[in-house]
Order: sequence, then C-alpha cells, then structure tokens
Amino acid sequence: MTSRPILPGSTVGILGSGQLGRMFAIAARRMGYRVHTYSPDTDTPTGQVADLEIVAPYEDLDAVRRFASQVRAVTFEFENIPAATAAACSEYSMVRPRGEVLHTTQNRIREKRFLSQHGLPLAPFREVNSLADLELAIAALGTPCILKTAGFGYDGKGQIKLYNPSAAEEAWRRANGQECVLEALVDFACEVSVVAARGVGGEFVHYGVVENEHKNHILDLSRAPGRVSERVQSEAIAIARTVMEQLDAVGVLCVEFFLTKDERLLVNELAPRPHNSGHFTFDACVTSQFEQQLRATCGLPLGSTELLRPAAMANLLGDIWQDGEPDWAAASAFPSVKLHLYGKLSARPGRKMGHLTALAPTVEDAVAQVLAARAALSECVGDKKSSI
Ligand code: AMP
Repeated sequence: MTSRPILPGSTVGILGSGQLGRMFAIAARRMGYRVHTYSPDTDTPTGQVADLEIVAPYEDLDAVRRFASQVRAVTFEFENIPAATAAACSEYSMVRPRGEVLHTTQNRIREKRFLSQHGLPLAPFREVNSLADLELAIAALGTPCILKTAGFGYDGKGQIKLYNPSAAEEAWRRANGQECVLEALVDFACEVSVVAARGVGGEFVHYGVVENEHKNHILDLSRAPGRVSERVQSEAIAIARTVMEQLDAVGVLCVEFFLTKDERLLVNELAPRPHNSGHFTFDACVTSQFEQQLRATCGLPLGSTELLRPAAMANLLGDIWQDGEPDWAAASAFPSVKLHLYGKLSARPGRKMGHLTALAPTVEDAVAQVLAARAALSECVGDKKSSI
C-alpha cells in the first residue's frame, strides 16, 4: 500500500548527524523541505545545515518520540540506531527504511544469515562466540582470515587479521568476548559496489557498478563507471535488487562486493543508506543518492540516475591536516574538481573530513585529476613549511 507523498514544505527527520546526513539535508533544503536532525552530538556536520539540531541520546525514547512527532518522515544516516529508537519513531511518523532493515544490517551475523538464506554469494565465514569456536573456524577456513565483531563495525573498526592459527587466543582476547564472525581473507581482483534506491511502490533504480580502492580498510578512491564486464555489472545489479526487494527496503542501499580474480562476485556488506562510494552522484548524476533518499523517504517518484560525465571521488581524511590546514586554493585550481567539506571540528587521522569529485571525458582522466587535486592540498603546505 502506498500512502500520499510528503511534499516540499514538510519537515523530514534524520537520525544521525554526520556527512551523510549533511548531504541529505542539503538535498532536502534545496527542494524546499525542512530538516530536523537527531544525535547525541552538537555542532555536527548535519546540524550545521539542518533547520533544527536535536541533541539527545538515541536511548532517550521520550526525546526520540518528541523528535518523531514533529516530522512527517524519519530516515537514517547511521545504521547503528537501537531497534527501540526506530520503533519509537514509527509510533509518530513514517520510518523509511523500516527499522527491521536496520536490525538485519547492523549486525554482521544477521546480515550474513539473510544473504545466505537468499542464496546470495558470500566469502566463506563462521560465527564465533568463544575461543573454541574461533579455533574450529580457523581450522575450517584456514589463514589468513579476518575476525570481525558482529556489531558496530565500519571502516575496518573491530577487525583483526590472523595470519597464523596460533594468533587465535590473542585475537579472541582483543575481541573482548563480543559476538564475532571469522571470514576467509579474499584475494580479490578489485572491490566494487552498487548504490541503489527503491521507492514506496517497489520501483528500483541503481547507479551502476562503482570500483573502489581502500587504504587501511577505509575507502580511498571510487571510479564511476567501474571497469567490469557487462556480465559482472548485470549480476551485481541483480544482487542489489534482490537484497532491496527481500528486505522490503524503501530508501537507498549500497551493496559492497569483492570481485575475485576468476570474476566471481562475493557480497562483503550492506549499508541501508547512502554510501561513501556513491558520493560522486552529488555532482555527476542527474539525481544524487541523497536526493534519491529524500524522494524514497517522502514517497515521491525516484529521479534519473543517469551519469552526466565519468567521475572519480577521493576521500579527504584527517591525516592531510597533519602539517596544517590543507591548501584549498591549490585544489580549487582544478576547474573540474568539486570540493566537499563536512564541517567537522577536529581532524583526527583516519577521520573522513571531506571528499573531492572530478568530472572528465573519461574515468581515467577523472582519476588523474582528483588525485592531482588531492596531492596539491598537501604539497603546497609542505612547500610553505620548507620555505619558512
Ligand atoms: P568492512 O568494514 O568489512 O567493509 O571492511 C573494510 C575493508 O577491509 C574492505 O573494503 C576490504 O578492503 C577489507 N576486507 C574486509 N574483509 C575482507 C575479507 N574477508 N577479505 C579481504 N579483504 C577484506
């Protein structure tokens, strides 16, 4: 059943207050919506552009209910929201995607069970709840392998690589008794992702296959379109569609994959929200992933995902601040490169502070430009220092 769309002029709410919420809020305000954001933090990337920043813990269900009663629809930019918070929102407002979608995808074991149940391809894994489980799992999967905590994992947080079975005890000690999964280390040819959207009537759109390079488990560079065969493309898109349909997800969802050297796709993880590998869509597509999230959340028809020009996106981590403020003017000297900064107050190493997107006639050109622009940010800082 589809309800009437929530139209511009209405207020929408977003749980979470990071860069994904910020770009959602920018898209929403551009279309004439008001935006309320809810998180435990102040002066946040989202709060800086929202109409209202509510600062309270996710567990404060009275505050959550007040937030939900003041908006027409609630969406998320952070999937580790307690199930009770999503449930409290749904007493007062439309919640998209449904809280159950978050529940499945916020825990690696539930997510892997869901994917296996639907026959979707995964890297070999075992559930681990004790040192004995871990030892059996290592014997079954071999080394190298990766132990990951089942909850609250992203960007390599909560991951321990094991190169030798004798490392089991130390790894289990570091996991601190938390529920985990052990995964075989995949010797992949590359990593790819599909960002897709599903509307209230079940309509499905996608942004094609994007190719991603990670450094220290954190996304570093995305190229769109990715360099994969047509068969891989259609398989990856079909998997993204199955995932969204089987989860009955309304909104945006990203499926991250490993592509093996013999061209097999293995699902790495799901994110039921806009994703870092879809940031290029803000500048390079007719409708960005953030506007698509808004449209889906509000029950509007989805927009075109057409790629206007090949694009590359490079993340800006806190590390580039280590020698002082990056040279923004130097990066601005690249006329086809767009700068996005998230307004975060402190630049810690590994923290996502912003990104650059380059548009060019070919994706290789876009990659060259975005990397040159990123290098220029700190080259000049180094030059200035050495000339002092
Ligand atoms: P995750 O937080 O699980 O997405 O992991 C972040 C990154 O770590 C991935 O994008 C990969 O680059 C790497 N990684 C995670 N799991 C594996 C695995 N099983 N095999 C190889 N690389 C992995």
